[in-house]
Amino acid sequence: MRFEIITIFPGFFTGIFDHGIVRRAQAEGLVAVTAHDLRTFTHDRHRTVDDRPFGGGEGMVLKPEPLAKALESLGIQVKADRGEMQKQILRSAHEWRSPQEDQVGGGETRVILLSAQGRPFTQTVAREVAALKRVVLICGRYEGVDERINQLYCDMELSIGDYVLSGGELAAAVVVDAVMRLVPGVLGNEASGEFESFGVADAEISRSEEGVPRSQHGAGGLLDYPHYTRPAEFGGLRAPEVLLNGDHQQIRKWRREQQLRKTLRNRPDLLERAALSPEDRSILETIQRDSE
Ligand code: SAM
Repeated sequence: MRFEIITIFPGFFTGIFDHGIVRRAQAEGLVAVTAHDLRTFTHDRHRTVDDRPFGGGEGMVLKPEPLAKALESLGIQVKADRGEMQKQILRSAHEWRSPQEDQVGGGETRVILLSAQGRPFTQTVAREVAALKRVVLICGRYEGVDERINQLYCDMELSIGDYVLSGGELAAAVVVDAVMRLVPGVLGNEASGEFESFGVADAEISRSEEGVPRSQHGAGGLLDYPHYTRPAEFGGLRAPEVLLNGDHQQIRKWRREQQLRKTLRNRPDLLERAALSPEDRSILETIQRDSE
């Protein structure tokens, strides 16, 4: 999978992907990340990328011409020239999967505009993006990007959270990191993405759990359970006895209960769409009854 990042600060990405899983994935040729300097696509002496907003107001806006040139240099056509499916900004993550052969650069390519006004970037969206061959990420700066770039070229606007960053670079790095680890072969144990926070439900997991117990089920949209390692005793606290006794059935049960407890405490909203078994529901009822 290939990530192309368009930015006025390509140096921001120097070193940021040179660690851990992300570095290894690149070294093994599973993924590639390239940062493209937007100023390369300007033609004036000052390499101007921004201009004052029409209608007045604070700040500057990234001009459309350099962005269009940068996209075209990557073989990205305007959506109108890519076929019917791409004429609209995609409305949901599911629409990423076009049944038609994508005509952008010959593979499955999508253009993402990082924006505080975008759709929330979630693990579900990360999984959809990970199925693509190539993603182009546009990093805004100042007050943002001339809207016509969004209208003409972008398949989706993504926000990494309800706060305003000073630029799209950090957001792009978050998207690249979260997506990259879902690309097949990147994680040592491919199943591990499914058993983490926000992981998919059992029915969507193709492989069975082997060896070390993780939880009773795939995360099914819940948060992860707490993790412990040696020493067994630290800061006056002992790791839960159940994790030390080697009874895999008990460990699975405990972990599932912890997932439910943590999700109920920190993200009750997730429970509404989580894949819960009758046993999960009964555990939740017990937790809620006990806390009353
Ligand atoms: N005027 C914009 C607004 O109120 O939505 C904020 C612009 S922000 C200062 C500059 C750039 O940072 C944006 O164009 C976008 O690329 C990026 N950015 C800011 N917050 C973001 C977020 N929550 N998610 C993704 N990108 C963000």
